[in-house]
Amino acid sequence: MADMYTAQDPTTQYPRPPFPPQQQGAPGDIHKMDPAPDHGEKTYIGKGRLPGRKALITGADSGIGRAVAIAYAREGADVALSYLAAEQEQAEEVAELIRAEGRTAVLLPGDLQEESVNNEVVAKAVDELGGLDILVINAGTMPTVDSIDDFETKTLDAVVKTNIYPLFWLTKAASPHLKPGAAIITTSSVQGFDPSPSLAEYAVSKAGIANWTRATAQQLIERGIRVNGVAPGPIWTPLQPAFVPNEKIEEFGSQTPIGRAGQPVELAPAFVFLASQESSYIVGETIAVTGGMPVT
Ligand code: NAD
Ligand code: MG
Repeated sequence: MADMYTAQDPTTQYPRPPFPPQQQGAPGDIHKMDPAPDHGEKTYIGKGRLPGRKALITGADSGIGRAVAIAYAREGADVALSYLAAEQEQAEEVAELIRAEGRTAVLLPGDLQEESVNNEVVAKAVDELGGLDILVINAGTMPTVDSIDDFETKTLDAVVKTNIYPLFWLTKAASPHLKPGAAIITTSSVQGFDPSPSLAEYAVSKAGIANWTRATAQQLIERGIRVNGVAPGPIWTPLQPAFVPNEKIEEFGSQTPIGRAGQPVELAPAFVFLASQESSYIVGETIAVTGGMPVT
């Protein structure tokens, strides 16, 4: 596994399908995944792009959020981590990696389906970091339902409460603390633009995230706050074995032009760029990190 700056063939940089069959219960554990995902622990090299920034990241224990947390710390930021209580051990590993960079890590377990938890997470992040400059709204859930005959209200409620409401709750709580130059970054999905048949509940939420990103960007730019998003393609995270059946896990990533799944670390540079002043004229955009799957 080479570092992120050594030129190499991206089609063979990381494992290609087939993957071994594997299933987990939600919220999933990175240590039970085979092959092990790359969150940048050994591969992400910081360049001082977020000096002294204070960031809050949801879903920060594993997958994309974990990679973003490691990258932000290596770019010079202090980081507050939101995650579910069941993920405490994975979150503590991320905190250790952040502290190894000489940065502050704040641990904030809690279920974001509750409005009050969103308010507490923001309040504690602001208090313990001494302010807030970057909000990454990344936590998500992805039930698969093969047929409309099996639709259940409680499934859609859980998806919307997890994937949509925190956009509003976290942003309302955070915005009084965000100064001009601050950034909010969302995680939508290629599913929000090109949905799979068994992911209707999830896909509609992801389309909503991209749409919210455009609307809220227009509001908050008046205060000098930029809102943007990232739309990942198929990424090797615990979300997949937690929600997707084995026949799809084995072929995971094969539908992309690049021919393989993405690794969480491959998302991190887009989140760094959108958080940094480098992207000062990018507002309301959603960047595709999809291995070539079109996002329009
Ligand atoms: P992941 O399982 O590692 O991360 C999702 C995180 O969401 C969990 O770690 C958990 O901490 C958090 N979460 C879930 N329900 C929660 C709740 N009720 N309260 C608080 N936190 C909760 O998987 P990931 O793939 O890194 O997912 C991160 C984001 O990326 C999600 O929004 C997901 O929809 C999106 N995404 C993933 C893929 C992919 O292929 N993995 C593709 C497109 C988009
Ligand atoms: Mg997790």
